[in-house]
Order: sequence, then C-alpha cells, then structure tokens
Amino acid sequence: MIISFKLVLSSIVFSLLIISCQEPKHTEESVEIVPKDTIKEEVFPKLGHDAPYYADSVYYGREKYIEYFAGNLPIILSVPHGGREIPSEIPDRSWGTMVTDDNTYEMSKVIMDTMEARFGARPHVILCRLKRRKLDANRDSLEAAQENRFAHRAWQEYHYYIGSAKKKIESEFGSGLFLDIHGHGANPDGYYDLRTWLGYLMPGSVLDRSDEELNTTENSNKTSIRALVDSSSFSFIEVLRGKNSFGSLMDSLRFYSVPSKKYPGPEGSRYFSGGYNTLRHGSRDGGMISAIQIEAPKPGIREDQQTWSKFASALTTVVDEYYFRHIGRRIKN
Ligand SMILES: [Zn+2]
Repeated sequence: MIISFKLVLSSIVFSLLIISCQEPKHTEESVEIVPKDTIKEEVFPKLGHDAPYYADSVYYGREKYIEYFAGNLPIILSVPHGGREIPSEIPDRSWGTMVTDDNTYEMSKVIMDTMEARFGARPHVILCRLKRRKLDANRDSLEAAQENRFAHRAWQEYHYYIGSAKKKIESEFGSGLFLDIHGHGANPDGYYDLRTWLGYLMPGSVLDRSDEELNTTENSNKTSIRALVDSSSFSFIEVLRGKNSFGSLMDSLRFYSVPSKKYPGPEGSRYFSGGYNTLRHGSRDGGMISAIQIEAPKPGIREDQQTWSKFASALTTVVDEYYFRHIGRRIKN
C-alpha cells in the first residue's frame, strides 16, 4: 500500500513538473507555431448593416474600398475603374484587364456636384477606390476579385449599394437611370477616337446595320434601356440614335458620341457596347432602371478639372432632357 501510494504520489508530482515545465514553453512558442487555419478569420458584418442610407450622407464599405454617396434623384452614377488604392492585403489580380480609367473618380464627383447644384438634390454615386488591378467592379465576382476574400467583400458592397439605390428609386420614382462611367484610351493601332462611346448592350456590328433593320421590339428588348424605351412615346431607333437620343443630345453640346444621329454606329472601328454593370443593373432582364455605359476619351473630357467640369455640365443637361423626353417628367420640379 505504502509503495503504491508513493508511486502514485511521485507520478503526480512528475506530471505536475512536466506540465509546469511545458506551460511557459508552450505559450512562448504558440505565437509562431499555431497552424494558419486556426487564426480567426475576420467576420464581415451583414451587407446593409450600415443602412438606412440618408441622402446627405456618405457610406463606406470595409477599409473604405467602396464609397457610396446616398442620393435622392432617380439617377445612379457607378464608377468602377477610377480607384487608386493598392492595399497589401489584396494581391494583384493575375488575369483580365488592369487599365485604370484615369480621372473618372474625380470627374464623377464633379458630375455629382453639378447635378446637385442643378437639381437641388443628389444622384446616388457608388465609387470603387481600389485600383483595378486589385478589384474590377465591372466584372462577375470570379474575374473581379479572383478569390481574394477582401476584394470579394468590396465587390459585394459595391453591388449591394447599387442594388439598394435601385430599390429606393423604383419605390420613390418608378423608374430611373444608371450610368456606368468609364474612360477609353487610344485604340491598339494608335488611333484615338475622341467621341464618347455609349453602351446599350448593342454590339458595334449590330449598330452598323440600317435603322429599318434595327428598329424591332426584339432588338429593343436586348438593350439595357428596355424599360425606358417602353415608357417612351418615341420608337426604339429614335431613343437609340435619333435626334432625341442620348448621343444626339450630347452631340448638340459638342461632346460627340456614338451612337447618335450624326454617328449611328462605329463603322467597324473599336467600340465598347457595355459590360457587366450595364447588363446587371440595366433593365434588359427586368426592373425599371435603365443603364448606359459611358466611355469618355481623355482629351477634351478627362484631361483636367476644366475639361471634366464642362463635360459634367453638358452631361447633366443631357440627362435632364433625356429623362424628360422618354420618361415623361422632369427629374426634379
Ligand atoms: Zn472602365
């Protein structure tokens, strides 16, 4: 009995010694040897946790990668490619287009201010502050974020804010306009097309067909302005490139655009017909928000404060007039 008691006691003491010896060592080393998958992953709050969105306020997503100026006009400006931030937590995207649309971030804020001064109310403006090589907010999530969870979160926030603005506009105004703002550079052959390209999801080769051929309900239903064409008293071709079209209204203010009455199609040259945002947030697949992708050249528009202020003023006039002619009421009385 005595021996066995001694044995038990000594083994307890021994164990305690081991524990007490290992404890500090374990704590010391644990800083470095904890396997990666046991590090607590950052938990993102639910999208919309920062709602409701008041028209005089600005909201930011995680790390301020996404910026949302909440508005009270039936207009949304989306600016996916003007960002400059290059945080180290997001590796560079490894495939896709990386070109930044120079100055579209600054220019779009001036468009916002110009609209506010003109209408006494603000458009909804969603801007991506990340450089395009970190996130492409005008692509599906796979190409946009390339499986980085911080980039993916920013992508979700970007589209959540747009979705929220669309719902608000539909409930308050019935219908509205979504403008996806971009910039195009010189063509690969060096030629710089100084016209603004307006994208309605109609490929350049289709725009190069005749009015008679194009002016069908089938074609109208394939565009990102389907709802606007439905509400307009003008025919589809008139809304697309007649004298009441967005392009012709821009032409009349000397910001020449394709398509318009003067420039019905790109005539085989380079032209962008609208990307992911125009498709997702326009009215082709339903809803009452119609989308136009606006690709502005740098010379004469995105050059400096003076050129983009003039452009902002013209664009505001055109948006006002286009909305009135096709939706049938003034943006703001
Ligand atoms: Zn772009």
